Amino acid sequence: MSSSLKFDVVIIGAGPAGCSTGYLLAKSGLNVLIIERGSEPGAKQLWGGKAYAQPLREVWPELDKEAPIHRWVSIERFSLVSGERVVTLEYKLGRKVAFTTYLTELVSWMAKKAEEAGAMIISKTRADEIVIKNDRIIGVRSGSDIVEADVVVDAEGINRILLEKIGLVSKLSPEHIGLGVKEVLKLNSEKINERFGLEDEEGVSWLVIGDVTKNIPGGGFIYTMRDTISLGIVMRVSSAYDAVERGELNKHVSEVLEDFRTHPYFYRLWSDAEVIEYGGRLVIENPVETMPKKLYMPGLIIVGDAAGTLVNTGYTFRGVDTAVYSGKIAAETILEAFGKKDFSEEILRRYEEKIKSSYIYDEILRHKGASDLMREKFLFKDLPRLLTGGFEKILEADYEEPKIIDGFRKTMRENNISLLRLLSVMIKLVSKL
Ligand SMILES: Cc1cc2nc3c(=O)[nH]c(=O)nc-3n(C[C@H](O)[C@H](O)[C@H](O)COP(=O)(O)OP(=O)(O)OC[C@H]3O[C@@H](n4cnc5c(N)ncnc54)[C@H](O)[C@@H]3O)c2cc1C
Repeated sequence: MSSSLKFDVVIIGAGPAGCSTGYLLAKSGLNVLIIERGSEPGAKQLWGGKAYAQPLREVWPELDKEAPIHRWVSIERFSLVSGERVVTLEYKLGRKVAFTTYLTELVSWMAKKAEEAGAMIISKTRADEIVIKNDRIIGVRSGSDIVEADVVVDAEGINRILLEKIGLVSKLSPEHIGLGVKEVLKLNSEKINERFGLEDEEGVSWLVIGDVTKNIPGGGFIYTMRDTISLGIVMRVSSAYDAVERGELNKHVSEVLEDFRTHPYFYRLWSDAEVIEYGGRLVIENPVETMPKKLYMPGLIIVGDAAGTLVNTGYTFRGVDTAVYSGKIAAETILEAFGKKDFSEEILRRYEEKIKSSYIYDEILRHKGASDLMREKFLFKDLPRLLTGGFEKILEADYEEPKIIDGFRKTMRENNISLLRLLSVMIKLVSKL
């Protein structure tokens, strides 16, 4: 890069948020540069999971035909695990709402769309600083080079190092962070279809709680891809730390994941699969508390995870669609600013107003309670024990099968679970999720 470079817009980070912003702005004729520190867009993206399609279709109507969609989620499963016993709920969907994909592939596709629209993407380049002059953002510094722009878009994701430097966010504490680790298991698509009960194109999204995280708040996830399975766990960092201190957790997180993979109930689904990838990444648990003080400054707009748009519903993370949608709102605001040749706070603050009246903010507020629930150890230890224990007494009786109520009452007594505690958590569960 040369120090004399000037663009209409410079975007830091080629993730879903940066790519959607860059795509829409370049498509409208602006001169856009996206700076990505990874070896290529998507290279730093860890997971295989599910992405909600409709908000993405608003940016790329051709999504269903062109995007790297592995399978459409047709079955949602939810399991509670205690020891070898498992209670599973299943829901069969009736339409194409979300699809499974690897974020690496999806981001690479989004970046290609941005480039085709005319955006320039420079990889292997880290933005070191957002440059401020006379209380206005004027560009980005990378090494000794400064790239100037009328608007800088911060799409740097969860770490938010650059925003911290300019005082818009404070450091994340372990309270706010979850650690995600995952494995990719290779298995041919016929076996996946047969074992998970799927037709071609159909996929499973599966949440598992209980012993799989050693009863630490968090959960296990399973997604079926075309010819691989994405398997992982997310654990609340502060709770895991406390559990280690109390001597309740003495395993490395990779061993916790291995125990999940080799759990007999799940292992039969992929016993002959090969582990072809392993990785770990941080995820924000409670977005509202970690949102920047404001999402704009003169000459700056913040999008995606950096802006706190990740929604933690308690049973799923919605980060891709919200990041893309925040990029769409950012692009609309920036185009308005270019129309008026005015990049002041007065114009750019409309971005924050629009975010706050969009589905993203509604979702974040609606699911705010999910992070409180993540502190509720009852859900991750006592509830799985109660359900599996109750069913064990009823369904595994050799002679006298107890009445349902008696089976559960006995399990509650054995595990010191009071009715009051159970009711209070159930009320919380229903009202907060
Ligand atoms: C384990 C895990 C599982 C998840 N599962 C799901 C799921 O199933 N569904 C879902 O919708 N969401 C999921 N999410 C959340 C989702 O991945 C994020 O919300 C989404 O990727 C946010 O997009 P973004 O563009 O804001 O940030 P990111 O995707 O983090 O992209 C930021 C980009 O900026 C680059 N960058 C950072 N700093 C700099 C710098 N200084 N200079 C240059 N480049 C920089 C990074 O390399 C990266 O490419 C999951 C997250 C994790 C961790």
